[in-house]
Formats: sequence, C-alpha cells, structure tokens
Amino acid sequence: MKTCLLWFRNNLRLSDNLPVYHAYQHYDQVIPVYLYPTQYAEHPSGNFPWGEHKQTFVTQSVASLSLLIEVHGSSLLVDENEGTIVERLCALVAMYEVDAIVGPTEPACNEQMEELALDQWAAERNIETNWFEERTLFEQHQLPFELADLPQSFTPFRKKLEKYSQPAAALPEPSLTPSPVLSAPWTPIAHASLDERSAHPYQGGIRAAWDRLDHYLWDTEHITTYKETRNGMLGADFSSKFSAFLAIGCISTREIYAEIKRFEHQITSNESTYWLYFELLWREYFQWIARKHGRDLFLQGGLQPTKPKKNFRNKHFEMWKNGTTGDPLVDANMIELAATGFMSNRGRQNVASYLVHDLHLDWRYGAAWFEAMLVDHDPASNYGNWLYIAGVGNDPRPFRKFNTSFQAERYDPKGEYVNTWLD
Ligand SMILES: Cc1cc2nc3c(=O)[nH]c(=O)nc-3n(C[C@H](O)[C@H](O)[C@H](O)COP(=O)(O)OP(=O)(O)OC[C@H]3O[C@@H](n4cnc5c(N)ncnc54)[C@H](O)[C@@H]3O)c2cc1C
Repeated sequence: MKTCLLWFRNNLRLSDNLPVYHAYQHYDQVIPVYLYPTQYAEHPSGNFPWGEHKQTFVTQSVASLSLLIEVHGSSLLVDENEGTIVERLCALVAMYEVDAIVGPTEPACNEQMEELALDQWAAERNIETNWFEERTLFEQHQLPFELADLPQSFTPFRKKLEKYSQPAAALPEPSLTPSPVLSAPWTPIAHASLDERSAHPYQGGIRAAWDRLDHYLWDTEHITTYKETRNGMLGADFSSKFSAFLAIGCISTREIYAEIKRFEHQITSNESTYWLYFELLWREYFQWIARKHGRDLFLQGGLQPTKPKKNFRNKHFEMWKNGTTGDPLVDANMIELAATGFMSNRGRQNVASYLVHDLHLDWRYGAAWFEAMLVDHDPASNYGNWLYIAGVGNDPRPFRKFNTSFQAERYDPKGEYVNTWLD
C-alpha cells in the first residue's frame, strides 16, 4: 500500500492539475494538504503583512477547494501551524509516514528552493518527491527552444510559440479516493468588506472563477471588445479580471485558453478575442523568465549587469503607499489598491513608473508592497513587470517613464476615475 502527500500550493483546483492527476493514478492512498502561508511578504526590502483583501481571497479559495474535495469523497488537511513551509511539510510526512510527496513545481526562486530542500530531505529518508508543471500554457518540453535560450524580449518569444507550439488540452477532474486523514471542511474566517467602487468585487474559489469566465465570455461577450477597453480603470468589465484566479490556481491558463478557442469557434473571433490570448502569453513569458533567472529577478540590478543608483527615503515611500504624493492619478490608484486589493494594468504602470522615475526609489519596495496587497499577486508577473518598468529586465530599453499628467488626460479625460477615489 503506497501513500502520498498531495501538496496544494498555488494550484487550488482539481481539474487540469497534473500533480492531482498523478497522485490519484499512482498511489493507493492520497492525503491532500494545504499549508496556509506565513502572511507577510518575506523580502529584504520590507516584510509587509498581507492586506485584508488578499487574505480573504486566498482563504475563500482554500475553502472552495476544501469543499470540492469533500464533495468528491475525500478531505483537505489545512495546516496553519507555525514554522517554514518546508519544516511543516516534513513534519506532516513524518507524522503520516507517507512514501512520497507530490506537488506542483513553481517558477520563482523561493518556491524552487523549497522544492530543492524537500528533495534533499526526502532523498535521505528514501521518500519520493514528484513535481509537476500545471501553471503555464506550455510545459517546458513544449517550448520550441531550450530555457537557456529563452528569447530576450517578448515578441520573438510569442512568435516562436505561435509558430511551433500549441497548448495541450486541459485535463479533466480525476476521481478521488478517500483520504486516510479525516478533517472537517475548512471554513474561512477572514472577511474583507467590499468597497462598492471596487473593480474587483469577486470572491476567491473555483466556482467564482468559472462564473467570472462565463460572465466575461458567454453571458456578456465583453471579450469581443477587450482590445478597446483593456486600458480602462473604472468598473468590473474593462478587462477580464482572471488574474487573481490564475495567481492562486482556481482555474488554469489552459482552461481559459480552451474557452477562448471554443468562443471563437462558436460565437466569433476578432482582434479582441486574440488579444486576450496575447496577454496570457505575456503572463507565460514572465513565468519562464522567472524560472530561467532565479534570484536575479529579485535583485536591485535585476537581469542587468549594473544596478541603478536608487535609494530609499521612507517619507516618500509612505506618501506613495498611502496615496498622498499629490499626483492625482498615482494617489487615486494607490488608494484603490488599499481599499480593494486590485489596480488596473494602466494604474500599475503609472504608479510603478512614478516610484522609480519620479520618486527615485528602489523598485523592490514597490514590488514588495504590491506583493502584500494585490489579490492577484504572482511573483513572476509582479517582479517581472517591475523589472521591466525599472529598466533592469532583459529588454534593452532602459528608461520607461510614464508622464502621469499625460496619462490621466488620455485614459481619464473627464477625471471620473480620479474623482471616484479622491473625494
Ligand atoms: C508593476 C506591475 C505589477 C504587476 N503585478 C502583477 C501580479 O502580481 N500578478 C498578475 O497577475 N499580474 C500583474 N501585473 C500584470 C497586469 O497588470 C495584471 O495581470 C492585470 O491588470 C490583471 O487584470 P485582468 O486579469 O483583468 O487582466 P486582463 O487585461 O484581462 O489580461 C488577461 C490576463 O493576461 C495576463 N496579463 C495581462 N497583462 C499582463 C502583464 N503585463 N504581465 C503578466 N500577465 C499579464 C493576466 O494573467 C491577466 O489576467 C502587473 C503589472 C505591472 C505593470
């Protein structure tokens, strides 16, 4: 009788989830487990506690998975003990005397280090570890180049993928066997209040992810105007709002891709429907950048050989964080982030540029603040985008400064967005 611990990380769903599929195919007994993360952004630039919206979204997503596993006749063990993830997982392996750990592999360096530490610990005890890809549209073996030869900029990456590869079909939900460790369904305690101005009024969880997809594609067909509306800042429907569900894995990118293709086949296909896929390819690019560049993604000099001359003035950082810089577009966006856990892509570009190029602060403080506050935080997308704006990514253009007055005139000509948040 072989038993494995099935470790859920940022893959909180059952369908299209290779580690889940593998665990139930290869082991007689499976113990599904989730280790609630330590709630601060652990980074040398600052350890900021998670915002209440992020806490709530994660908690709801775990509760949703727990319920689904229960419906399938098993139960999710949620570990909320003290200690590092590795210590806590090793303690569970020892307590339940399992033969293997099965889980998703993650691209960013801290998570990679967890996998390495577990590999080493387990090998000394003759326990297997198995890591599976589930986070990206393409698995590494499908990339039409070696990871070491990942293109230096997005366009050749996209073109090569579009020419030579196709995402594989999404995997169905497997049948589960009962877990030998019984625990009651996990019920959330965190509840952030919903700001009625929020552009992201969504709960976390698998059902919520599919409801949002159904709304954006099938019920309203908003996807057909995505290319024209995606630079918006106000309201729920200017963009898909898939990011938080993807970040914590309530839905997979391959599932979204399959639905876009189905929509194109059954309803219509235009530049906008393609553009949503195009943006998912940006996400894909940052996932592979993170995997290739490891800890460099988190260094001040990023992927460049020299680090920019930036410093840290706490007073300026506090003004940025609290939305009191005096720049209306920046302040409105920072207030929205604190009040809702979300900010549009247009807003993120502007506030990031302002921190780096106007306040001349080290970009990593901004990224760490985003990490703690964003409901959709994903290390690859967050740090990758910050590097890009700070001019230390692998793209050669060094200076990406946004003129916030010009941006406000162009994207918020009547001041509706700014007035919504600054009154
Ligand atoms: C400084 C900065 C930090 C960011 N941090 C994050 C982060 O932590 N997590 C995150 O998911 N996105 C991040 N983004 C990218 C982007 O702003 C968000 O993905 C997007 O605003 C989420 O809203 P949406 O799902 O409605 O996006 P849509 O416009 O509907 O796009 C669809 C999907 O494409 C992907 N996508 C779109 N733009 C990007 C991009 N520039 N980079 C990577 N993926 C993209 C996302 O998965 C998104 O859900 C960041 C951008 C900047 C400039």
